[in-house]
Amino acid sequence: GVSKAQHLQEQRAQLPIAQGLEALVREIAAHDVTIILGETGSGKTTQIPQYLLECGAFPGVIAVTQPRRVAATSLAARVSQEQGRPLGTLVGYAVRFDERTGAETRVKYLTDGMLVREMMSDPMLERYGVIVVDEAHERTLRTDLVLASLKKILRARNGEESGKGKARAHNPLKVVVMSATLDAEKFSKFFDNAPVLYVKGRQHPVSIYHTSTSQVDYVDAALRTFFQIHVDQPPGDVLIFLPGQEDIESLESSIKSYANQLPSNSVGVTLCPLYASLPNAQQSRVFTPTPEGTRKCILATNIAETSITIPGVKYVIDTGKQKEKRHLARMTGSGFDTLLTTDITKSSAMQRAGRAGREGPGFCFRLYTEEAFDAMALSSEPEVRRSSLTSALLQLRCIGHDLETLDFMDNPDAEAVGAALRTLWILDALDETKRLTKLGRSIAAFPLEPQLAAILLASVEHHCTADVISILSLMSASAPLFPDSSAQRDAASEARTKFRHPSGDHWTMLNVFRAYDEVCGSESKGGRRDWCKRNFVNERALREAGDIRTQLRIVCDRANINKEISCGQDESPVLKSLVRGLLQHTALLQPDGTYKQAMGPSIIKIHPGSFLTEKRSPAIVYNELVYTTHIYARGVSAVSKSFISDFPKRVTSGRAGS
Ligand code: ADP
Ligand code: MG
Repeated sequence: GVSKAQHLQEQRAQLPIAQGLEALVREIAAHDVTIILGETGSGKTTQIPQYLLECGAFPGVIAVTQPRRVAATSLAARVSQEQGRPLGTLVGYAVRFDERTGAETRVKYLTDGMLVREMMSDPMLERYGVIVVDEAHERTLRTDLVLASLKKILRARNGEESGKGKARAHNPLKVVVMSATLDAEKFSKFFDNAPVLYVKGRQHPVSIYHTSTSQVDYVDAALRTFFQIHVDQPPGDVLIFLPGQEDIESLESSIKSYANQLPSNSVGVTLCPLYASLPNAQQSRVFTPTPEGTRKCILATNIAETSITIPGVKYVIDTGKQKEKRHLARMTGSGFDTLLTTDITKSSAMQRAGRAGREGPGFCFRLYTEEAFDAMALSSEPEVRRSSLTSALLQLRCIGHDLETLDFMDNPDAEAVGAALRTLWILDALDETKRLTKLGRSIAAFPLEPQLAAILLASVEHHCTADVISILSLMSASAPLFPDSSAQRDAASEARTKFRHPSGDHWTMLNVFRAYDEVCGSESKGGRRDWCKRNFVNERALREAGDIRTQLRIVCDRANINKEISCGQDESPVLKSLVRGLLQHTALLQPDGTYKQAMGPSIIKIHPGSFLTEKRSPAIVYNELVYTTHIYARGVSAVSKSFISDFPKRVTSGRAGS
């Protein structure tokens, strides 16, 4: 009602940024590029776009990029609420596999990856009047691509010299770069000494405690620390930083069961998980006021470090861990990025502690020693230096930019670029002279890694697109279809036997999905859940894969691909398609029973969790390698050797072009 709208407007007016907004907007209007450095929670991300909109001086759509999809969707929801309009009308969002915008959308929160994707059809980003690159300090690969491209776009749209150019340009572009850490100078230098504006927050002192010895099990340490706070300390919500979803779910269930054992007159615990793939409806729970007589406990990944500010937090528990994207086989080009649990940086540790002092003095409990803090790196290496460049390189080619010549904040290393070029050449996305092929353009149209998109396109030729889309959707889901249930391993493998296919894991996954589709046709929600429980398969993975499949089908329609064709029970068309995209993920049997990569040096074994029973198949194709005591291939199917030798040139020759 009216009072709620009023309340929101009062909240807006009280944010630290409110006093300085007019000055900020004046600066943005006066320069092509403005760098804004601000303390987290001051109101940059929610208020600046609204102010640019409300002042009426900036035609076109205002884009606000975010490295993470949860941030994009939840900020869009908040800002459309503040505007008093339904989400997807004036204010909307666009993330991979999900978009809510309309013809009247003027403020659009989107992932940096989506903006790169939009450049493929609109290289000058003409529909946008302002591009706000938020969370630039995170230096994701896509943020770096956006920054490098914007430099080129600014020159084209605003003219060579900004002063003269501005008078002539009919559709000038404004760029605002926002960062939460003290690296503003680097952004300013990159954009020809663009002005840097500082936004002060309201930071109260935070007392920081370290452990005296290092902790072996950080989830267990977090559990104990939480209950010490909960039992002994005055009211105030608790924010726990954990590396990823699995740890969050495991801590959530331990806290739940311990909380049940507390005396019945004690304060209750309201648990709020927060991580990337959390469904939209559950995300908003962290913002609902803490119920009377309970303490809220937020279990978050580093999403809560700077991108999302949760009110009411007085205590922070920092495990000192995060998940970081790494490309393990970067120099050979094969393989996809893996998320590894690593130590955080000093800069992250300070941000995490800061979250405790937003509304009053707070406390931060670090589950690591002071020596460990001293040993942390100052800040992390930009992603362009450590992740796969294959898909980025292809996207840039489609926009008409060259990864090799574009001006980057930090240049990618030549060897990684070479590896990416080679992979794209193997896929026939680039020709012998490194030029983009027609196939390459088709591959780039899919919101998938190029290798996976190549599989999808090969499935058209082999008449099995419906089946391949299902498999690719499961491969793209963030949750595993077969979770490790060490407690009931025998029961699980018994229950899963009926899905098992002799060719291995891909077809086994497809059998599960087909069976689930049938269950969906006949059963209620509860019935589906029971079915998944009984069969030890992860329903969340299937639901997520279902959503992804819907999106891939839409892209197929747009590309005039018949998405309904199935190969029935004949597995070889599917396996042939898989090999086409995953040639660098194929291996040949050695006399000693191990496998050697067909296009690489590694000796690998089949992962013990694989459904492939025939461990001596002449050739295999796999999803990924796991590096433990051995190198294991995971997600494995047996294939005919001839599927691989159909591409003799690829298997025997060296690097592309170079
Ligand atoms: P900054 O970008 O400077 O870190 P934000 O604009 O993200 O700051 O946040 C400003 C304020 O808006 C914070 O107090 C935050 O708690 C609040 N806020 C952001 N999103 C939501 C939401 N979905 N629900 C309620 N409050 C929110
Ligand atoms: Mg922000």
